[in-house]
Amino acid sequence: MPDKSLERVAVTGKIVDARWLERKFSNKFEVFEMNHSEAASCPESVASLRALIGNGASAAEIDNYPSLEIIAQFGVGYENVDVAYAAERGIVVTNTPGVLSDETADTAMALLLNAVREYPRAEAYMRAGKWRNEGDYPLTPGTLRGRKAGIFGLGRIGKAVATRLTAFGIPVSYCGRSRQADVNYPHFERLVDLAHSVDTLIAAAPGGDATRHAVNAEVLTALGPNGVFVNIGRGTVLDESALIAALSTGAIMAAGLDVYDREPDINPKLFSLTNACLLPHVGSASVATRRAMADLAASNVVSWIEEGKALTPVAETAHLAVRSGS
Ligand code: NAP
Repeated sequence: MPDKSLERVAVTGKIVDARWLERKFSNKFEVFEMNHSEAASCPESVASLRALIGNGASAAEIDNYPSLEIIAQFGVGYENVDVAYAAERGIVVTNTPGVLSDETADTAMALLLNAVREYPRAEAYMRAGKWRNEGDYPLTPGTLRGRKAGIFGLGRIGKAVATRLTAFGIPVSYCGRSRQADVNYPHFERLVDLAHSVDTLIAAAPGGDATRHAVNAEVLTALGPNGVFVNIGRGTVLDESALIAALSTGAIMAAGLDVYDREPDINPKLFSLTNACLLPHVGSASVATRRAMADLAASNVVSWIEEGKALTPVAETAHLAVRSGS
């Protein structure tokens, strides 16, 4: 029997393992699973909801919840939450920074290795019986040896990627709006200048209007014919048509993508390119990491309900992180 005194918390959208969340926080709140359109069609059921854990909320969707105080975004990227509108309504928005950085950086390295050394293609070759019947898999034109890497967006994930690249013996430089005080890698203000100075570009920048199609034909061409591009951040950062052209013409050598412009609707031209290594947005997708993300999202809600403090507010609503009077 649910404890009637517990706060009801809406869980919307794609939350892996909502049942686990419900079990773990069963003494803290009651999970109420629903999507935004169900909320719109049944306003009385959400009239008193103060908290939701989810993935994305437009202004119209936020308006479904007249009593909402906190939106705990399941994930670090939050460009699909209308944070300006949430702030206007006095709603604090939180995300899940840090707990997914290593997992996502591991995925970036897998994409880089697979794109450069063709491991998925080599495995497919062996599974098809070609090793025995046709001989050794061809030598790969690509190697990590001698590469120079540039990172677009040197935040938590970008830094975790940089640490891995350094361990692999690959020098790192980066482009971002500001110089990062805690690292000594060379900083470039313009992405095209970074691309000219490296042959391997890894994007770990957030989505949204400020980065839309930042990785364009000019940037890709600057990497040169030995160039490799990896996207672990957001699909909108890349001009996909420009990448398809660059991979088709040999303007760059290979690419590895985890994220796409209109996922899960993938441009079919990408599937026909053997020099593209493609993953279905699995950067943080292990049970352990997704649970750590769910844990942090839920802990924000618990802290808000019990103490009036959000633990990891996004910058745009940081001023709302402490409930007035708390
Ligand atoms: P973060 O710590 O906030 O780092 C983001 C970095 O991007 C910051 O260093 C920031 O530096 C830079 N940046 C922000 N706006 C920029 C702009 N307009 N131009 C250039 N650089 C910009 O975030 P994170 O935890 O590393 O995550 C980064 C992104 O990865 C998330 O936003 C999310 O979209 C994506 N992600 C993907 C997966 C996946 O499964 N593939 C998993 C988790 C996260 P400055 O402020 O100095 O510019």
